[in-house]
Amino acid sequence: MNLLFYVRLISLTMGTLTYLFLLALILGHRRPRFFERILFFLALSLFLIYSGGLLEMNARIQYASPPEATRLLYTSLITLGMLFLPALLVHVHLRFLSLLRPSALPRWCWVIVYLFYAFPLTYLLVPILLFHGLPSLSLKSLLHWFRPDDLSVLILAVLVCAASDYNITRTSADPTTRRFFRLLGLASVLVLVPLALWQGFATLAPMQGEGTVVAIVVAGIFPGALLIYFALRHNFLEFGGQRNLVYALSAAFLSLLYLALVRRVSGWLEPVLPPEATASILLFVLVFAFEPLQRSIGRALQRTVHLQMERVQRLSGELQMEARRGDVESLLAFAERRICDEFGLASATITLTAPPSVHASQASVTAGPKVRLLLRKGGEEIGTLDAVAHGAFISGDARAALEFLAEQLPAAIDLCRLIEEKLSLERELAERERLALVGQMAASISHNLRNPLSSMKTVLQVLLEKPDLSETVRHDCALVVGEIDRLSAKLGQLLRFAKSSARTPPEQQKRVDLASLVDQVVTLLSRDAPRRRVAVTLALPEKETFVLGSEEALNDVISNLVVNAIEAVPAVGGRVHVALSQRDGHAILEISDDGPGIPGELGGKVFQPFFTTKPSGTGLGLAIVEKHLAEMGATIAWESPVTGGRGTRFTVTFPLAT
Ligand code: ADP
Ligand code: MG
Repeated sequence: MNLLFYVRLISLTMGTLTYLFLLALILGHRRPRFFERILFFLALSLFLIYSGGLLEMNARIQYASPPEATRLLYTSLITLGMLFLPALLVHVHLRFLSLLRPSALPRWCWVIVYLFYAFPLTYLLVPILLFHGLPSLSLKSLLHWFRPDDLSVLILAVLVCAASDYNITRTSADPTTRRFFRLLGLASVLVLVPLALWQGFATLAPMQGEGTVVAIVVAGIFPGALLIYFALRHNFLEFGGQRNLVYALSAAFLSLLYLALVRRVSGWLEPVLPPEATASILLFVLVFAFEPLQRSIGRALQRTVHLQMERVQRLSGELQMEARRGDVESLLAFAERRICDEFGLASATITLTAPPSVHASQASVTAGPKVRLLLRKGGEEIGTLDAVAHGAFISGDARAALEFLAEQLPAAIDLCRLIEEKLSLERELAERERLALVGQMAASISHNLRNPLSSMKTVLQVLLEKPDLSETVRHDCALVVGEIDRLSAKLGQLLRFAKSSARTPPEQQKRVDLASLVDQVVTLLSRDAPRRRVAVTLALPEKETFVLGSEEALNDVISNLVVNAIEAVPAVGGRVHVALSQRDGHAILEISDDGPGIPGELGGKVFQPFFTTKPSGTGLGLAIVEKHLAEMGATIAWESPVTGGRGTRFTVTFPLAT
């Protein structure tokens, strides 16, 4: 056995391990896309080639002439790997290129990929079918026809890859990607040289010796090793995220290698020591290695934990910041999005349960790709965090981090709620202050205008008494009196709005018989109705209906709602219905009309002060109503349209006074 043989044996072992490691890394990827899947098959084909080669070498050591079955096994492994290697190489490179580019790759690029895939099939199947017919199609005949020593297609594929690597180094914005592909380009050249030597330039002088084979085998390890290095060091392609997977893999490989060493050494020492004795000595020696091993593993684990903790702490800091904005909805959306990104999950959903859930006893953690964590506050469940992984399961470190976050979340949500409440209180206070100011202004203006207005009205009325007044002057005076009446009505409304901004002192709240008040107000208002030919109907309960409030405020409420209804219906033939009833300890006052209704887009505005659609409206009626009702603990709702696409119904619900 010469030196080259051993170099080949060792490099085949390293190649097998490299691609096996890569396979495991890809399998552990959190978000396998189509790209990762093709990469997996590429690594698989390389693994098959290397492991087939390794088997061949071992068979050569073991037997003078390897048994037929063994030969068939390693030849099929190598053949299977070699068949699709060129196509997979080209596919992976072009796919990565297409992921980097904003625009799609030209169609001919994909045609090249298809051609590479089609090649092994035509290359193998067509001649067999042509010359031998279908019955002869067997694994043996396939192996016979495929010549793994013809490397021209592989060389072509590596050339295409090198070209796309060059393109990526020029176009990628990410420095890590650029560095990786520059080195990969270099590795391609390293592979190309022995491949070309083997094939021979124009097959003139092929150098198909052991040296060339060893060079090809050694060079073929570089791309895989490079990818592993970049994945672990720079988290390239996000393969390095699963630290504990990496450690587990390394430990498994090391123990495999150690076992192989034990076997070899006991083989060598067999003439002097029984193999069992050598094996036990070597295994005992391992015990001494435990302490330093544990120390270094401990350090590595500590680093991982630190990294993970740092990440979680950063995330929880971000959540606190978001919580300060005082919007629970957006905090939850933000938390879901960030947890998803940070842990590479398929989805993360936070559900808040209002009352303590009945499932509180269920296990907080479930295995597999789905994890449900309970969010607790003071021993009480306030919600759940559901995480779903992309892969088969959520790794232990990610789960621990998620649990930590689930402990932090309730506090953040609480903080957010507090701030939300504070903000809304502040907003309400500011609104109150603003309205109070408007109210004061309105009060002072109307107070100052009312007296002169009533003097003007008196003067005009005295003037109108005079019999010698010309008809035109009399007409004009009457017009002015009408305008003055309208103005004072508006000023009265303003004044009432100003009053409604100030809280009614509790001593003014007393038991009022709503039924008789409604009767009074409606009778008064419907006096004007027949002139307008509007029919106002009234339905009152049999019994007395007492509510708590001030009579003046209640008067305001009823009259504003009824006036609005009368104003809404057509001047001729309109109908307004007022109904009072008692239900479940509440007095229900309904005012409906068959007017045009309130258009949907105005719905949110009708209670706003100064919002009006009427040419001479003040827009204060409903604002006054709302204020008074809030003070009495009553609520108001409306619906529109009521029937046939027309009509509005306002419903006021008062708590009954006992
Ligand atoms: P104003 O009556 O001075 O306009 P309000 O606050 O009483 O002010 O009403 C605000 C607006 O709500 C009205 O301008 C009108 O557009 C709408 N509205 C109120 N009640 C009705 C109703 N019964 N039918 C249709 N629209 C109504
Ligand atoms: Mg009104």
